[in-house]
Amino acid sequence: MRLVLVGPPGAGKGTQAQFLASHYSIPHISTGDIFRANLKQGTPLGVEAKGFMDRGELVPDSVTNEMVRDRLTHDDLGNGFLLDGFPRNVAQAQVLRAILSEKNTPLDAVLELAVESAEIVLRLSGRRVCRDCGKGAHIEFERPAKDGICDSCQGELYQREDDKEEVISRRLEVYQEQTAPIVDFYRIEGLLITISATGSVADITERAIKALNRAHQ
Ligand code: AMP
Repeated sequence: MRLVLVGPPGAGKGTQAQFLASHYSIPHISTGDIFRANLKQGTPLGVEAKGFMDRGELVPDSVTNEMVRDRLTHDDLGNGFLLDGFPRNVAQAQVLRAILSEKNTPLDAVLELAVESAEIVLRLSGRRVCRDCGKGAHIEFERPAKDGICDSCQGELYQREDDKEEVISRRLEVYQEQTAPIVDFYRIEGLLITISATGSVADITERAIKALNRAHQ
């Protein structure tokens, strides 16, 4: 299964990606996670990406595309992959199509997680992430047993710089202006599957798997 997940920030792409990647036994490739890991380690890539990320802007395509091109040469892709957060504009979608067509491994599907914008702000502003294991939590919808502490590994929960309210609105604008057009791009390619991303995490995963299986019967 070679799959792309698309949806506005806060649609739950990261959460669903973990479950879907495990269901299909494919690696979860999140460009946001790769940037954050580089940031944490202070690599030149992380330093270059930081300003863009903190402002809610896209990291330039030249940097992002090369990072993904490199990731797609790893030898763990035998069963496919799940891309989360890439592509984020039409130029990236074209580069991805070219990379995959060189390898004769086209995408099987693009799953769009659809969610109302009023709900997105609520989801993002309350979101917390574990500094150690990266697991998500939410101060209202998915409260940890102990405030500020990750349920899985007891690491510290923090608020991503770009989940602060002033950055959220910029990220939503960037999504509408730059990322939403890829939904049409993939619709025209015949790859798009859209599901509603409201309800419990387990319900959404089930909905996603059913929709993907229906499309590939
Ligand atoms: P995410 O974790 O997917 O919300 O990504 C966090 C931030 O990383 C984004 O707001 C961008 O600054 C950057 N980023 C992630 N993926 C991409 C991409 N495909 N193109 C450009 N910037 C990206």
